[in-house]
Amino acid sequence: MELIIENLSKTYPNGSRALQNVSLVIPTGMFGLLGPNGAGKSTLMRTIATLQDADSGSIRLGNTDILNEKDAVRRMLGYLPQEFGIYPRISALEMLDHLATLKGISSSSDRKNVVEALLQRVNLWEHRKKAVASYSGGMRQRFGIAQALIGDPKLIIVDEPTAGLDPGERNRFYNLLSEIGESVIVILSTHIVQDVKELCSKMAIINEGRVLFSGTPDDALKEIQGKVWGKSISKSEMGQYQQNHRVISNKLVAGKPIIHVLQDECPEGFSPADASLEDVFFSKIYQ
Ligand code: ADP
Repeated sequence: MELIIENLSKTYPNGSRALQNVSLVIPTGMFGLLGPNGAGKSTLMRTIATLQDADSGSIRLGNTDILNEKDAVRRMLGYLPQEFGIYPRISALEMLDHLATLKGISSSSDRKNVVEALLQRVNLWEHRKKAVASYSGGMRQRFGIAQALIGDPKLIIVDEPTAGLDPGERNRFYNLLSEIGESVIVILSTHIVQDVKELCSKMAIINEGRVLFSGTPDDALKEIQGKVWGKSISKSEMGQYQQNHRVISNKLVAGKPIIHVLQDECPEGFSPADASLEDVFFSKIYQ
């Protein structure tokens, strides 16, 4: 199954043009939607999740028209929003049981099976009787995935999931997501390049409501390969380099900045650098 987005546009009443003719084809697997804050990611995610309308354009999931057959889509959809708002004071077990009822699983023995299997799958079985409100950030995100998986969705949307997770929690969350991505469409919206690098076989970069790139991370790297040059400089030289070159990224290594610049020929004093997905990202969004 594929998710096909065509010419989607949305302008908010205050004039913010959040989506401008967005077109994307998203196949089964992990798809990374990468963009800085304000790029339009949440607007796109909420529109796909049927929570808000676009001004124009279409979205199809297989044969289902997402913008016009909302009930049918909701049955195929799992959504992990950026913010849950208030976390429940009841246990994960009770909460999932309640959500499964809302998703239409009316038999209590079916619900029990579904909920128990999900708690095992996201590794929260031993914490199932604790209130979700008492969970750590990583546990909450795994709970969020469990609730998104109720009802066997064909499409899962995960909005900025790793913010605030420590490296161990992030790893566990990555592993869980990539397992899920083997059989369904998972859209991971994020401003963290590493999330996409480690998880996604396909990706898009969006900024100011526009798609700037869509393809595999390898394709993205190929676009700039052989044109990225690096140099270790002192902090006081940064301004001067930014003025005279197209600096696409800078990183501190042992307290000293290493800058990457993008241009066809190697500038004097620089040497060839391995292009990274960060370089692609910054070269696209600071054109
Ligand atoms: P992202 O998720 O990539 O940070 P958003 O979709 O939240 O981006 O926002 C895209 C643009 O739309 C931003 O300029 C933002 O300020 C604006 N925007 C988002 N939601 C609203 C809203 N409800 N009303 C008005 N403007 C909004």
